[in-house]
Amino acid sequence: MAQPITDYSRLCIHTMTTKPWSLKEAADAYAKAGVAGITVWRQHLEPFGAKEAGTIMRDSGLKVVSLCRGGFFPATSSAAREEAKTDNRRAIDEAAEIGAPLVVLVCGAVPGIPLPVARQQIIDGIASVLPHAKAAGVKLSIEPLHPMFADNRSAVNTLEQANNMVVALGSEWAGVTVDVYHLWWDAHLEAEIGRAGKNILSFHVCDWRTPTRDLLNDRGMMGEGCINIPQIRGWVERAGFNGFIEVEIFSNEFWAQDQQQLLHRIQRAYRSHV
Ligand code: ZN
Repeated sequence: MAQPITDYSRLCIHTMTTKPWSLKEAADAYAKAGVAGITVWRQHLEPFGAKEAGTIMRDSGLKVVSLCRGGFFPATSSAAREEAKTDNRRAIDEAAEIGAPLVVLVCGAVPGIPLPVARQQIIDGIASVLPHAKAAGVKLSIEPLHPMFADNRSAVNTLEQANNMVVALGSEWAGVTVDVYHLWWDAHLEAEIGRAGKNILSFHVCDWRTPTRDLLNDRGMMGEGCINIPQIRGWVERAGFNGFIEVEIFSNEFWAQDQQQLLHRIQRAYRSHV
């Protein structure tokens, strides 16, 4: 088990967790609450543009942990695959502008493209944008998604697959993201976290609700589901990761609530269930 958490110095919140807030509102509220880090989603960055978002980030005093998200490499036409690479280069530029050291990749999947083909297209896509990432000083992190998303969001569904891709890419600018929501069920998780070692670039937490009422937007607050988060945090830390613990919750239920109260609830849950 991991050591108990006593402060918010490693707490990072994804702007999608408080989706109704603008980037500015989220940054102000997180900083005021003593949260140390922020992960910016592109839809929150967009209304401001990268330049102004960068100013907001620098003024907030928050550490920008990552930009979400790049990826979505597989496509049925080569023109669409090229467009995906262009968009990923744009995401890398935005990350550099706002001071994010990392772009998290939701790698993509397309119904009708066999998963092994999609995985090869993902490797090819990442490989072709890696030089741009390196030049910008921004790392790319492959985030495996739960298999329920294998049809249209990601053909990378286990940490083993992500680790294999990092080996195939052979670059220190590519690594993996461990998200407990996507990976908690995997019997090989502990071993694959150990195998990933220093390639673990980020760590996401929330919880798995029973029943899950919506495939995408019904993630739970830490402690209200069945994931043993402290155990997985312990594995990640034993592998050498000591970076931010990122609260990433997509929830129609929480988005309908008062976001300031939600923020306080996140902080309580972070201290008692992570
Ligand atoms: Zn995640």
